[in-house]
Amino acid sequence: MNNIYDVIVAGGGHAGCEAAHAAAKLGARALLVTMNLNTIAQMSCNPAMGGVAKGQIVREIDALGGLSGVVSDASTLQFRMLNRSKGPAMWSPRTQNDRAQFAQEWRNHLEHTQGLFLWQDTVVDLLTEGGKLVGVKTQMGIEFHAPAVIVTSGTFLNGIIHIGEQKFGGGRTGERAAHGLTEVLNGLGFAHGRMKTGTPPRVDAKSLDFSQMERQDGDDFGEGPNAQFSYFVQAPKTEQLPCWIAHTSEEVHEVLRTGFDRSPMYTGRIQGLGPRYCPSIEDKINRFAERNSHQLFIEPEGRHSTEMYINGFSTSLPLEVQYEALRRVKGFENVHMLKPGYAIEYDYFPPTQLLPTLETKLVEGLYLAGQVNGTTGYEEAACQGLMAGINAARKIQGLSDFTLKRSEAYIGVLIDDLITKGTDEPYRMFTSRAEYRILLRQDNADMRLAHHGHALGLLPDAHNAMTEAKRTEVAAIAKYLKRETIGAEAVNPYLVSLRSAPVPHGWKLDAILARPEVSLSGLMKAVPGVGEALGAYSESAIEQAEIALKYGRYLEKEREMAQRMGGLDEVPLPQAFDYLAVPALSHEAKEKLRALKPASLGQASRVSGITPADISVLMVYLGR
Ligand code: FAD
Repeated sequence: MNNIYDVIVAGGGHAGCEAAHAAAKLGARALLVTMNLNTIAQMSCNPAMGGVAKGQIVREIDALGGLSGVVSDASTLQFRMLNRSKGPAMWSPRTQNDRAQFAQEWRNHLEHTQGLFLWQDTVVDLLTEGGKLVGVKTQMGIEFHAPAVIVTSGTFLNGIIHIGEQKFGGGRTGERAAHGLTEVLNGLGFAHGRMKTGTPPRVDAKSLDFSQMERQDGDDFGEGPNAQFSYFVQAPKTEQLPCWIAHTSEEVHEVLRTGFDRSPMYTGRIQGLGPRYCPSIEDKINRFAERNSHQLFIEPEGRHSTEMYINGFSTSLPLEVQYEALRRVKGFENVHMLKPGYAIEYDYFPPTQLLPTLETKLVEGLYLAGQVNGTTGYEEAACQGLMAGINAARKIQGLSDFTLKRSEAYIGVLIDDLITKGTDEPYRMFTSRAEYRILLRQDNADMRLAHHGHALGLLPDAHNAMTEAKRTEVAAIAKYLKRETIGAEAVNPYLVSLRSAPVPHGWKLDAILARPEVSLSGLMKAVPGVGEALGAYSESAIEQAEIALKYGRYLEKEREMAQRMGGLDEVPLPQAFDYLAVPALSHEAKEKLRALKPASLGQASRVSGITPADISVLMVYLGR
């Protein structure tokens, strides 16, 4: 076997798949070593992608040339655009996926990627020479050599599964934990911590009475821009499956409480911190004691499977308590459980030990991506994998780093938050984390990022050409909207139907469209001239032009702000910078900056406790 590679990826989860694919696509000879080839791209928890802020990330991955969006589209059971009643910055695509098909699609893509090789094994050691990574050693005793290694071990490092008073080693239910790497990384000087997450029981649809639940169907947007994740690859249309809504009751809560004295969370057996915003059912009834019911979403796991996921019922209570409580939910009287819910504790590495490229500060050529960096969620993991894969490949080719600004992408926000502030609880993305969220919308990730993906060599020419064509169309539509005046008699019936004030005479089209109640699609239908003029343009370009016009002032403000703040990100701070030698820096700034070693003045300015005065001092010191 040829054991020499350019990039080795340890772990075939969501981060590992994106990393390996990107590195190989960029020309690196890449090896993906993962513990079980049959669990590549497993969805450990709910088989669903996207949602608020996460859907934006999937679209950003797609725009850069990653595959999470394409794979999700090809395995969609149900598609919804969340938050449609709010402004476009909040719209978030979400899919319920066929778990098996999602994993199969990823495996197919990886197997057919030139320059990418798969190997089933566990990485147990990292080989270094003079502070640089040179390869890995596996449990089978094989040494693979490469100047860049990306560790994406997810929840597997020293994983311990808890169900009531039972506890056993595991990286996920039914899979072994990974041992060895934490200790090796500690030996190289890295600090680690412990986190926990949990998952609900899975049940058999045959045993449920859906007539006692509320049905929730997907959205039907036809084939338009809001019907799937990918901007470029049209997924075949398949029948959407319904989800169902059920409710817990006071009786259910009573039963759950009987298990609290054996709960690993309340008896102190779980040390790691869990995700606050994704609480277990026992956490919910404890924290919101005044509520006597919680909503449960009963979601399918596959098109040809009867396995159902009970969203909202994550638990690590004893098995019999889980069962007895579930049996008391309306529609669950005869429930058959396929798997119990459980909690898992695992090792993570505080991400402040990373550079903006996700390369570690301590060992050159070593990258960490995904849940191992303290995040939670497939999307958060996948985008880190993509960025690490791109950077590892570029580094060995002697090319410059590739990073994204906070004003360019949620991916930029996520990585900057992680490496600057760190995290002591599982980090998930929210729209509120982004200060430029009007710029970072799900509808414009292609316009924001496709040129990067193309310049990197990841996004095919044809996909970049689609984005450029859209850009041209948007400009032409905007020009038309600004130029045209529309007669009162043509537009007033439409305005009156919306209870919008009629116009006294001919009005500029852009002024009419600025009214919140008026939509461009409505105008196109109601006013024949507008429909004819714009009918040939694509739905996505029309949507884009409309958003640009309606929110123009806000967009401009955010762009200006981003430009003003962004300058500091362009000023690099060398890793070897001696902060103690700058007398005018505050004591707190010296200590914090010495510990973090920020990559730029911008990153330094976002460290808590660093004041504008400290930044001015550094600017003077750097001769700016
Ligand atoms: P993973 O998907 O965990 O993949 C890691 C991969 O690395 C696996 O294939 C494993 O075999 C391999 N591996 C590990 N160590 C080695 C090694 N040393 N050598 C070779 N291969 C190795 N996310 C949410 O957003 N919400 C939730 O509610 C939620 N609940 C969860 C509940 C549970 C029980 C679990 C396990 C996860 C949950 N998640 C949840 C998290 C979600 O599954 C992860 O965020 C996501 O899968 C992380 O992707 P990853 O690529 O970092 O790691």
